[in-house]
Amino acid sequence: MSTSVASTDRHDVPGTCHHDCPDSCGWITTVEHGRAVALRGNPDHPYSAGELCPKVNRLVRRVYAPDRILTPLIRTGPKGAGEFGPASWDEALSLVAERVGAVIDEHGGEAVLPWNSAGTQGLIQMSSLDRPFFAALGSSRGVGSVCGLAARSGFSMTYGSGRGADPSDLRHAELVLLWGTNTRLTNRHLWPVVEDARAAGAEIVVIDPMRTITADAADWFIQPLPGTDTALVLGMLHVLVRDGFVDHDYVAQYSTGFDELARHVATWTPERAGAACGLEPDTIERLARRYGEASPAFIRTLIGAEHHEHGARFFRALGCLPVVTGSWRHLGGGLARSVGSWADVAVDDSVFDAPHDTRTFHAGQLGRTLTEADPAIHALFVWCGNPVVSHPQSELIRRGLARDDLFTVVSEQFLTDTAAYADVVFPATTQIENLDVIPAWGHLYLGWNEPAIEPLGEAVPNTELWRRLAAAMHIDDERFTWSDEELIGAALHDIDVEELRSTGFVRLPLPDPLLPYAEGGFATPSARAELWAGDLDPVGAFVPDHMPAIEGADGLGHGEYPLVLLTPKLHVRFLNTTYSRHHGELESGPFVELDAVDASARGLGDGDVVRVYNDRGELHLPLRIGDRVRPGVAIVPWGWWGAAQAVNALTNDAATDCGSGVAYLDTRVEVAPVTPA
Ligand code: SF4
Repeated sequence: MSTSVASTDRHDVPGTCHHDCPDSCGWITTVEHGRAVALRGNPDHPYSAGELCPKVNRLVRRVYAPDRILTPLIRTGPKGAGEFGPASWDEALSLVAERVGAVIDEHGGEAVLPWNSAGTQGLIQMSSLDRPFFAALGSSRGVGSVCGLAARSGFSMTYGSGRGADPSDLRHAELVLLWGTNTRLTNRHLWPVVEDARAAGAEIVVIDPMRTITADAADWFIQPLPGTDTALVLGMLHVLVRDGFVDHDYVAQYSTGFDELARHVATWTPERAGAACGLEPDTIERLARRYGEASPAFIRTLIGAEHHEHGARFFRALGCLPVVTGSWRHLGGGLARSVGSWADVAVDDSVFDAPHDTRTFHAGQLGRTLTEADPAIHALFVWCGNPVVSHPQSELIRRGLARDDLFTVVSEQFLTDTAAYADVVFPATTQIENLDVIPAWGHLYLGWNEPAIEPLGEAVPNTELWRRLAAAMHIDDERFTWSDEELIGAALHDIDVEELRSTGFVRLPLPDPLLPYAEGGFATPSARAELWAGDLDPVGAFVPDHMPAIEGADGLGHGEYPLVLLTPKLHVRFLNTTYSRHHGELESGPFVELDAVDASARGLGDGDVVRVYNDRGELHLPLRIGDRVRPGVAIVPWGWWGAAQAVNALTNDAATDCGSGVAYLDTRVEVAPVTPA
């Protein structure tokens, strides 16, 4: 297999999908005379095994799409109108240096804000040389994110780190709980492993407030009310303790706080938990007994359940289940969430850090930051993201981006809803045009991504963008002289880089099988799982003082806005907001779905165009009447571009209980006819 970009004959180049997706599939790009002609899954990849998803298997078309941005652009029309003229790199860099320099001269470095998301989750293209660049400017800092941190923070309260089981080990389980994760859609390469477990006799249980395609394929589907998962865990713990499913030997050796936990959950009878979750007490009894009896039982969870105001607390509580039953002892037991926390056995991205002790803003609250920061932000850099569509309070973000006294720089491949507000847009490469390494968060393989073709037009990798900006702004740091290979080499350790580069993937240097806590070894100061409040628990015990989605969250009146809004990914051909412009026509378009009871109560019929609204915004969408949600809950899937289609116009941007993350799913709305009767 060739790895040369310079070759002009037909050859294959190994790479790795860079998207914010747990699967990090290995792929092969076929190149003919310097042009990519095909992209397919790498059949040798141990996890993705030769399959790419419908989102990515058309990537080559996107690379060569006629509306790709291939030169720098400078705004010529009103902000948001998307009117730009082409510019040379020198012109665009000079303009940025002049305008950002003027902002710093007048307002100081903290008037500059960098913002990125995970449009690529590659080691060097997502975030590397941006760090010394913005540290040198003395910019403000965006901290936290919308996803991942609440789960990791809550899990760490119990375990001391975010490290859990290898998801692929669920094939050895007797019972698999897929908790708040739509595996068949958003973690599709794990589904064959789930089917393997079922073929070997495992029961597959899905716990989700929405009937997903994964729920349809489960042996047992449990549908609690949104935001009540912690109560369900506490009810299960009540039964496990009451009925003697505790592994007292494991608990005594490897945990602290069991007695306090047992006293606490004594009050969480199945009746109390069932009332909170909207489930029959018998459902909780049966689920807990199955969990206690199974040897072993495996819990697979991902992102969804953290998007509540008590999101961290849920993961803290969930982590107690496999400790109490001692299922960590067994291959096929325990709990898996993101396995990204394991990557640091081979990856140290702190080599890109620079001293940078300035004011911070929650990166998930960009709208508030751009409209409320005092002193104000006057220069914004955006890369690897489209926050107008992907982030909450999108109308507030638009208002901030429209400010005349804000200078905005965006690095993008296409003119997204966010890029339309930029003053300068720099052309970004796609994954088959740049070098990177991908630390996965759904499996234990590190992926290499060799550039298969030369960058199109004048597009550059993000690393090169920071080098050019640093030169234009006269910023010196030795790392700006490093090549991409040198950046990667500096960050990798304990791994054979040549093997990684030649095969396209290599397993992290971890025991195989993993069995992380079979004999304790938790990362807490006591080296034990902390089952009760301790120094690690800033919220005290994990007593849910209220259930956000049903009692008091969102700050909106529940009488005026009686429906809980879920904003899941239901589309199969685009990922977050990427591909939405090019593959969106292959999907049905956004819609709102209600249960028949709620539709009838509002005099709404299937197919009606209805208003979905709250104090933050309003969407007009076709109504589907279905059975995916319970009464009191509405669905609007997210990800489509366009002002009239971004469901994040409605969503809550409150931080979760760890101070980071976003409580998207504690959003209240009402649905009504477009023209009130
Ligand atoms: S988006 Fe996910 S499933 Fe699709 S090719 Fe990329 S890593 Fe694989």
